Amino acid sequence: RKAGYIGGKEEHMFELMDGFLKNDPVSLQKDILHHVEYTVARSRFSFDDFEAYQALSHSVRDRLIERWHDTQQHFKKKDPKRLYFLSLEFLMGRSLSNSVNNLGIQDQCAEALNQLGFEYEVLAEQEGDAALGNGGLARLSACQMDSLATLDYPAWGYGLRYQYGLFRQIILDGYQHEQPDYWLNFGNPWEIERVHVSYAVKFYGTVEEEVVNGEKCKVWIPGETVEAVAYDNPIPGYGTRNTINLRLWAAKPSDGYDIESYTTGDYINAIVNRQKAEIISNVLYPDDRSYQGKELRLKQQYFFVSASLQDIIRRFKDAHGNFDNFPEKVALQLNDTHPSISIAELMRVLLDEEKLGWKKAWDIVRQVFSFTTHTVQQEALEKVPVDLFESVLPRHLQIIYDINFAFMEELKAKIGPDYARLSRMSIVEEGAVKNIRVANLSIVCSHTVNGVSRAHSELLKTRVFRDFYELWPEKFQYKTNGVTQRRWIVVSNPSLCALISKWLGTESWIRNIDLLARLREFASNSDLQKEWQMVKKVNKLRLAEYIETMSGVKVSLDAMFDVQIKRIHEYKRQLLNILGVIHRYDSIKNMEKSERRKVVPRVCIIGGKAPPGYEIAKKVIKLCHVVAETINNDNDVGDLLKLVFIPDYNVSVAELVIPGSDLSQHISTAGHEASGTGSMKFLMNGCLLLATDDGSTNEIIEEIGAENMFIFGAKINEVPTLREKGSTVKAPLQFARVVRMVRDGYFGFKDYFKSLCDTVENGKDFYLVGADFASYLEAQAAADRAYVDKEKWSEMSILCTAGSGRFSSDRTIEDYAENTWGIQPCKCPS
Ligand code: PLP
Repeated sequence: RKAGYIGGKEEHMFELMDGFLKNDPVSLQKDILHHVEYTVARSRFSFDDFEAYQALSHSVRDRLIERWHDTQQHFKKKDPKRLYFLSLEFLMGRSLSNSVNNLGIQDQCAEALNQLGFEYEVLAEQEGDAALGNGGLARLSACQMDSLATLDYPAWGYGLRYQYGLFRQIILDGYQHEQPDYWLNFGNPWEIERVHVSYAVKFYGTVEEEVVNGEKCKVWIPGETVEAVAYDNPIPGYGTRNTINLRLWAAKPSDGYDIESYTTGDYINAIVNRQKAEIISNVLYPDDRSYQGKELRLKQQYFFVSASLQDIIRRFKDAHGNFDNFPEKVALQLNDTHPSISIAELMRVLLDEEKLGWKKAWDIVRQVFSFTTHTVQQEALEKVPVDLFESVLPRHLQIIYDINFAFMEELKAKIGPDYARLSRMSIVEEGAVKNIRVANLSIVCSHTVNGVSRAHSELLKTRVFRDFYELWPEKFQYKTNGVTQRRWIVVSNPSLCALISKWLGTESWIRNIDLLARLREFASNSDLQKEWQMVKKVNKLRLAEYIETMSGVKVSLDAMFDVQIKRIHEYKRQLLNILGVIHRYDSIKNMEKSERRKVVPRVCIIGGKAPPGYEIAKKVIKLCHVVAETINNDNDVGDLLKLVFIPDYNVSVAELVIPGSDLSQHISTAGHEASGTGSMKFLMNGCLLLATDDGSTNEIIEEIGAENMFIFGAKINEVPTLREKGSTVKAPLQFARVVRMVRDGYFGFKDYFKSLCDTVENGKDFYLVGADFASYLEAQAAADRAYVDKEKWSEMSILCTAGSGRFSSDRTIEDYAENTWGIQPCKCPS
C-alpha cells in the first residue's frame, strides 16, 4: 500500500507541476513574465533589458534544473563509476547563450522575446563573464565540462566560488591597471545556493597521539574551522537531457561557538574575526604560471579539496557499505598540481576517520587519482615551504612524510644508492628552505600522469619528469587539449555554423565533430568560397565596430585582420609581434609612393592581460599603445597598417574577436607552450595560423598541412643550442634597427623601454626574439602573398575548419574516459 501511495504521490506531484516546462514561445513568454514579476520583482508592464535578461535566465535555469534533477536521479539509480574533476579554476564566460544553445531553444527564446519587445542578442550581451580562472588551463576546464555533459559521462566538477574573479584590465594612457571583478554584484542566476550542503573545513592546530582499541592513532586538533557552502552550476549537454554539475565552494564563518570570545564580552570583535573566514574564497590569484608558498593560496587549495572530498565520500557512502569498491566507483582528476593536497586529505580521511589502516588506505588512494600537468618547466612547478605546510596542515605534512618515506625506500631498492636521483625525486626538497614538491607528490600517488599535447609529453619524459618517466614509463600518457565547438563555433559564430550545416546537409557535426572533415570536399568550390567570405566579412564588420567603440580607431574591412590575443608573457612573444609591426611600418615609410600600392593592408590586433606584478609584460602593453599611437596617426600609412590593443581580454571578447580574424599568431618560443588552445579556436573559425612549432602546433600541422599554415622559427630541439650561443647568434640587421627605434625613443618613453629592449639584446635574448626575427618576417610575407589570392585564401580557410575536428574537447574527453578514468557514458532517458 505504501509503495502504491508513493507511486501515486509522484504522479500527483507531476500533475501539480503540469509536467515538465514547455519550450514553445508562448510557454517561454509566460515563464519570463512570471520571473519578471516574482523573481526580479518588477512590474511586467515596465522592465528593462537587464531585467529581461534576468527573467529569461531564470526561465532557462528552471529548465536546466529539471534536467539536472533527472540526470542526478539517473546517475544515482545506475550507480556508474563517476569522474570528479577537481580544478581551482574554471573560466566559464557567459552562460545564457551557451545554455540556450545546448537546450536547443534559441529560436523559441528569440520569438518569445520578440513578441515582448526585446531582442535575444541584446539580452545575451547583458551578462557579465564568470571569470574564475586565468587563461588556457581554466578555459580548458570549462570546455571539458561541456564535453563531459554532451557525451553523457557521469561527471562532476569541483572548484572555488571566488567573489572576485580575474581582475578587469583598464588601460589608462597605455598602461595596464587592475580593477577588481566583483562579478556577483548584480546577482548570478546561473548558480543555486545549497545552504544545506555545507562542510566544516579545518586548519592549523596540533596532532596528538591516542590509543583507540589498543592501537595508536593520530588525532588532529584543528585551530580554525571554516564552513564550505556549495553553489551548484548546472552544465547542460548538447542534444541530450544530461545536465551535470559544477559545484563551487564558498567560505562562510563556521557555526561553531567560540565560548571564550563571547564570554569576555568582546562580542563585536568575535564576530569580525569570524567574518575573516570568508577571505578564503575571496579572490582568484591572477598569475597563471607561478604560485609559490602563499598561505592564503594553500588554504584555498585545501579548503576546496577538503569540502569536495567530504562531499564525494558522503555520496559514495550513501550508496556503498564500505570502501572496498571505491576505486571502481570514483575517479579523481587533478587539474594541475593545485588540487593535489587531496591526495594527503584522502589518505587522512581513510586512515584517521575511517580507520582503514595504512595499507588499505594507500591501496585505494593510488588507484583513484589521475594527474594532468600543464607545466613545461621544472622551475615553474609548485612548491610549498614545509614550515608553512606544518602550520596550516600539520597532519597532512606527517602523511606526506610517510608517503615519501615509503617511496624513497621503494626507489632505493630499485635504483640503489643513487643519492642525487633520490634527492631529485623526493617529495621533500632539502635546502635552506625545505619544500614540499607538489608535482612529485602528484606523480608518486597518481596512476596516470598526462601531458596536454604530444610535444609536451615528450618534454615531460625527456626533461621535466625524466627521472619519473624512467621509473614508471607506463604512467605517462598525453591527451592533447581540445575546445568545444558548441561555444566556439555554434554560439560565437552562428553564421559559420549555419553555413557548415548547410554544406554538410546536417547539424550532426555539433556532436560528432569528425563530420567537419567532409568540408574538405568543397574547399575549392567557388560557391562555398563566396559564402565563406561573406560570413567572414560579417564577422569582421562586427569586430571593426567593436574596435572603433573601444579605441576610436576606424579599420578597413579589406585589410587582413591579424590577431594575437592571449595572456601577455615574454614566452608568448607579443614583443616579437610588435617589433614585426614596427618593421612593417618602417618599411612602408621608406617605400616610394608607387610601391605602397602593393602593400597588403593589415589591421594588427593584440589583446591580453599581464599578471599584475610582471613589469616586463606591462611594458609590452605600453609599447603596443605608443607604437599604435604613432602608426594610427601617420597619414603616410593610412589604411595600410593599423595597430590596436583590445582591452580586458576575456571569454566573451574572444567570442567576438576569433570569428572576425583572418590570421592569428601563436608564436611562443618553442618548448614553452604546453599545448595552447587559442589556436584551436581560431582554426575552427577558419582563421589561418602563423605559428611556431610549439605545443600542439605540430599536431595541427598534421591535420591541416604545413602548406596551409605559416610556420616559422627555431624548433624545440634547436632552442638549447641557440641559447648557448647567446650573443653570437646573429639577429638580422632589421631586428637591430627596430629595437634601436624603440631604444632611441622614436615612439617616446625612451627610459621606460630600456629594460624591455635589454631583454632581447646583448646576449640576453632568452626567448630568442632576435634569433627568430628573420624567419618571422618571412612567414609574415608569405601570409601577405597568400592573402592577395582570395580564392586560395578561402580554400585554406575552409581547410582549417575542416581539419579542426581533432581539436575538439569531445575527442580529449573520450580519450580520458577510456584510457585514464575508466568511465562509461550514462545517458539519462529523454
Ligand atoms: N584566455 C581565454 C579567455 C581564452 O578563451 C583562451 C583560449 O583558449 C586562452 C586564454 C588561452 O589562449 P592561448 O592558448 O592562446 O594562450
